[in-house]
Amino acid sequence: MKKQVAPPSDLVELSRALGDPDLAILSEGNVSCRADGDACWIKASGASLATLSETEVVRVRSEPIMRLLDAASNDENIAECLHNAKIDDARPTRASIEATMHAALLELDGVSWVGHTHPAAINAITCSLRFGELLAGRIFPEEVVVLGPASLLIEYADPGVPLGIAVRDGAREYVKRYRQPPRAIYLKNHGFIAAGSSARDVLNITLMAVKSAKVRTAAAMLGGLSFMSDEDVRRMGARADVEYRKKIMVEREISK
Ligand SMILES: [Zn+2]
Repeated sequence: MKKQVAPPSDLVELSRALGDPDLAILSEGNVSCRADGDACWIKASGASLATLSETEVVRVRSEPIMRLLDAASNDENIAECLHNAKIDDARPTRASIEATMHAALLELDGVSWVGHTHPAAINAITCSLRFGELLAGRIFPEEVVVLGPASLLIEYADPGVPLGIAVRDGAREYVKRYRQPPRAIYLKNHGFIAAGSSARDVLNITLMAVKSAKVRTAAAMLGGLSFMSDEDVRRMGARADVEYRKKIMVEREISK
């Protein structure tokens, strides 16, 4: 029998941190990261973020999953594709059907870790009538530093292939416009995705997005959001890359 390769311990740690009940309960959400070659590690279907074990992470090839999005396949094809994309056959588990949106983000330069959650504070906004309006722009400097110059908003699409296509297309548009990958992605009537360069980066993005959602909801109730100017966002973004994000936040291990 072939020797099993273990997933990175940071992925399991990230999963457990994102399994906080304020961020995801039951089998909600999933995590992934790049593996060698054209592969990625992703949480198995039905596993819980809070209690994830090493055996509940699946290694899959990304290329067949991306091809599935090009073909706009149906649900039967996706189950078959995810099964066939598995690298370690001995593992009994199958990748989450949300592997489609993970693969669509992990193909971007600068994204090597992804965490998807359903935080109540964020979903209060994504499930509201004011989704676009309340998630627009930037309202404080830490948002620019941690969440990037703007958020990527995705209209509702069914989990699986339709959501994978929506995230892939939205992310590619974002890269064209901002010359960097999106870090904070909001899914209408569904949840949140953090796309980062390390496990710690993904956790930081998620925590900052939850804080931001609480501030935005409160500010909306206090008469409306006061946005930073485009110039303030641009200046803060230029500083963020060099001084703050990389040194202090991204390189630190998740448990520190
Ligand atoms: Zn979800």
